[in-house]
Amino acid sequence: MSWKTLDDIDLNGKRVLVRVDINVPVVDGAVTDATRIQRIVPTVRDILAADGKPILLAHFGRPGGERRESLSLKQLVPTLENAFNAQVLFAADCVGVEAELAAEELQPGQVLLLENTRFHAAETKNDPDLAAGMARLGDIYCNDAFSAAHRAHSSTEAIARLLPSCAGRLMQAELEALEGALSAPKRPVTAVVGGAKVSTKLELLGNLIDKVDYLVIGGGMANTFLVAKGINVGNSLAETAMKDTAADILTKADKTGCKIVLPSDIVVAEKFEANAPHQVLPADQCPDNGMILDAGPDSVAEITEVFAQSQTLIWNGPLGAFELEPFDTATNAAALKAAALTRSGQLVSVAGGGDTVAALNASGAAHDFSYISTAGGAFLEWMEGKTLPGVAALEH
Ligand code: AMP
Repeated sequence: MSWKTLDDIDLNGKRVLVRVDINVPVVDGAVTDATRIQRIVPTVRDILAADGKPILLAHFGRPGGERRESLSLKQLVPTLENAFNAQVLFAADCVGVEAELAAEELQPGQVLLLENTRFHAAETKNDPDLAAGMARLGDIYCNDAFSAAHRAHSSTEAIARLLPSCAGRLMQAELEALEGALSAPKRPVTAVVGGAKVSTKLELLGNLIDKVDYLVIGGGMANTFLVAKGINVGNSLAETAMKDTAADILTKADKTGCKIVLPSDIVVAEKFEANAPHQVLPADQCPDNGMILDAGPDSVAEITEVFAQSQTLIWNGPLGAFELEPFDTATNAAALKAAALTRSGQLVSVAGGGDTVAALNASGAAHDFSYISTAGGAFLEWMEGKTLPGVAALEH
């Protein structure tokens, strides 16, 4: 893959249209988690430092193609000014005369924020006319929204074909981390796939079997694999209708030489609730009224041994019902081992997906991972081996 970065383009005096993801949670007009805003600061800062003029393009919520004041980006201006330590002007549309004038009159050191791109129904249709209207506001297009790159929209795909384009700092960091982990990784490579269901992660499992040396399957989806092996899982979450698919995956993995690691022991309770009475049993001993809620200590030992033998780790999904103590034990222990190996330089570790980030944050391991992707859908599609339209459009 080859794409330009901000370092490859002369930004001096140029209007740089930056596609960002500032879809932050807002309660009663206040931003409750500004992480996404913090993550675009390096791009805005570097454009300003190079005497470029940043003009921010972004979506906010799902207005369905209609102007909805509650989803106006205007409410983010104070938070953005704080984060950038710069004046942020606002244009009430992302195309049109008013926005063009505001872009034209933007002074060095100022940032311009354009109104929610999804107030236009054409945005999500990747409409070329809307993209052309946006492109009139800038000299350069910079995409810094990896988390929106799995969608071909006017502001993520069509526009990249109309202006000289590059990746912003966050996009660059995501792409470098992800390519390093799956395109040309140091081997052995281990993937951890956990979470609730096989059905939502089928394509992901199929792609990984071809690419990784070890595939650790955990969480509710491991139960479906146990069923495929003829093991009783009692009242556990399992998709019995998917058992043939799971069996096919096991057979295919055998052929490609990918070693699948399933739980050898399990933590079983009768109720799906925190601190429910529980016991550790061999994986094939789940009672009829039992529910498997976590992997047991032998499984954790096996998983951490696989980590110790690996050079690259990709992780999506928890190993158990991590929101309920103590059924977060396997997820926490494995995550802390991955963090320690990363800290000592033995492992490159990349993790992503909504629940995964929450689980790794809760374990205290997240900050030691090599890279944590905050992109949910885009990270999963990348793990599935799909081409992301917003990234493909940057390639040249
Ligand atoms: P996902 O969104 O597919 O990554 O799934 C995450 C969800 O799977 C979390 O809410 C976990 O509580 C749930 N989960 C993981 N393991 C189990 C399990 N053994 N039984 C029930 N739910 C589980």
